[in-house]
This record gives sequence, structure tokens and C-alpha cells, in this order.
Amino acid sequence: METKKKDIRALTKEQLRGFFTDQGDKAFRGNQVYEWLWQKSAHSFDVMTNLSKDTRKLLEEFFVINHIRVDQMQRSKDGTIKNAVRLHDGLVVESVLIPTANRTTACVSSQVGCSLDCKFCATARLKRMRNLNPDEIYDQVVAIDNESRLYFDRPLSNIVFMGMGEPLMNYNNVLKAIDKITSPTGLGMSPRRITVSTSGVPKMIKKMADDGVRFNLAVSLHSAIDEIRTSIMPFNATFTLTDLRESLQYWYARTKSRITYEYVVWEGINDTQKDVDALVDFCKFAPSKVNLIEYNPIDDGKFRQASNAALERYVDTLEQNGIVVTVRRSRGKDIDAACGQLANKR
Ligand code: SAH
Repeated sequence: METKKKDIRALTKEQLRGFFTDQGDKAFRGNQVYEWLWQKSAHSFDVMTNLSKDTRKLLEEFFVINHIRVDQMQRSKDGTIKNAVRLHDGLVVESVLIPTANRTTACVSSQVGCSLDCKFCATARLKRMRNLNPDEIYDQVVAIDNESRLYFDRPLSNIVFMGMGEPLMNYNNVLKAIDKITSPTGLGMSPRRITVSTSGVPKMIKKMADDGVRFNLAVSLHSAIDEIRTSIMPFNATFTLTDLRESLQYWYARTKSRITYEYVVWEGINDTQKDVDALVDFCKFAPSKVNLIEYNPIDDGKFRQASNAALERYVDTLEQNGIVVTVRRSRGKDIDAACGQLANKR
């Protein structure tokens, strides 16, 4: 009878060290294996050449090494790369490499599908299948770092959790992945270069503040008026703007770090002066930045990007109130790699 082998990448370094001492071997073998698994991204035990053949055979008997596989890579006219990433159980998520003049940003997924129901987002139409494991998030980053070195001659510089899924609904695994990404025994990246984007789960925003995380926070706001926000992001009926704002005040009091709001302006939905004023009022309690994102149509015609005049009204009013504002052009639209377009369509 074959016993089920364990996923070795689910083990902490301490657990790996414990495995070796249990086997009557030296604990530091655990460190060696850990380094192979994370820093060197080993796909098999065979390559772990500083271990004896017997040790490698022993590991083989007990464990498997799960790895993602980039099934398909698409390149956009503007240089953006989209990876279709196959997980060990056959499910697929997407991640995106976004090159600019002096940065390479990885946009990674945190869940297969999404449990939220934002009306304007293609990912919301895929039902949530499962959370990604820490190694599956980490591997997306490693794959994009490799592509960045290969195609742009430079390492990855920034990471945004803006792919598929709601990162704060897979908080523990996202945190473990970020720990590995920032650890010297992982990729050694600075947490200041990482942004977690959330549609706003108040309880988890407070937890992040209590946990003293050092990465950046972005909130997908899209409207600062409850009735409107609930009509486009129905979970807002449960996680209301009052609770969201209270959690953000808590976050700012503890972290003193600026909050970024993502915001799309749609015709006939949130394009009046009243909408702008509500946004100013919502975010003035802390240093804030508003990213006005271009809408990427997801082909049902209900949502339309607002006029330039409406955008200008947002920019002017925000600036007059001392709020930093940027207008973001979409990247990778021709390959369905832009915000809200990730839907495993190929
Ligand atoms: N669940 C997280 C992260 C994924 S969405 C969150 O909500 O923040 C990443 C960003 O893309 C969010 O700001 C989201 O509101 C935005 N987005 C979703 N669909 C979009 C679309 N069709 N066009 C432009 N931006 C979109």
C-alpha cells in the first residue's frame, strides 16, 4: 500500500530540521534542504548535490516537491507578459509582469477565482475554488523575476497583490509568502516594494495593523457613497464604508503609512461632483493617494469609462484638497492582462 507523501514545501525550516533529527541525522541538513527549496527553487531532490544519495532517497520516500508550471506565456505589444500558471492539482491562475522605464512589477494572484462579486471584474465570474498556498504565491514571483532577468535584463523590483482573488481572505498564506519573499533565505526583497490590494475587509485590515506588517496597503474603493458602492461591490452591504473607514483609521494610527485608493470613474455611476466630494471626505483623515484606474471593459457594456472632463474634475478637486492623485493607463489590454481582466481566457 502506498502511503501518501507529504508536501515538503508546507514545512517550516524548524520542521525540516526536526525531520532530520527524528531520523537520527543532523539538524542542519534541514537548513540545506530549505535553501534548495526556497532560495534555489529546486524541482527535484536529485539536484540537492550536497546531500548524500541515501538522504535524497529518504526524502523521496516521504515527500513530494510541488511546483507551479507556467503553461502559457503571452506578450503584449507594450511588453506586458501574462503567465497562465498551472498548479499541482491542475487548477490555473494568472500572473502578470508589467515593465516600465525603471521598474518591473509582478501582479500576482492569491486565490483560484474569487469569492467576492464586484460587478465590473471578470475574475468575480469564476467561482472561488481554493486559496493559494504560500509556495504557489512565492513561485509566481520567482517565475516573473526570472522573466524580468531574461527579457529586461534586470531583477523584479515591485510586487502587487492585484491578480485573481482577495488577498485578505487568504491572509495567513499571503503573509507566509511575503515572509519568504522578503527573507534573506528567500528573495530578500524589501516589504516597501510590496503592495497588498484589498476590496476592504475591515477586520483583516485591523489585524494587519496589529501584526505590524511593513508592506503597503491599497484599497479598491470605487465609491465613497454606501448605496453606490453596494450596487457595484455587493459585499459592501456587509463590510460598510463606516467600518472600512474605521479600520483604516486604526491602520493609520498604528502604521503611519499612507493609504492608496484605487478608483475607476464610470459614466453615470460615480462621475458627479457629489461623488468626488464624498471621496475627498472619506480619505482626508490620513495622507492618501488616489490612483484613478482606466476601466477595462469586460464585455457586457453595463460599465463605461467616464469622460475626460469627469476625470479632470476628480483630479482637480483631489489636488485642491491636498490629496495625491495619479491617472493610470492600462497595460496589457490586448492580451486580457489588465486589471480586472484575469479570467483564464485563452
Ligand atoms: N481583490 C483585490 C485585488 C484584485 S483586483 C482588490 O479588490 O483590491 C485589482 C484591482 O483591479 C482592484 O482595484 C479592482 O477594483 C480593479 N479592477 C477590477 N476589475 C476592473 C476592471 N474591469 N477595470 C479596471 N480595474 C478593475
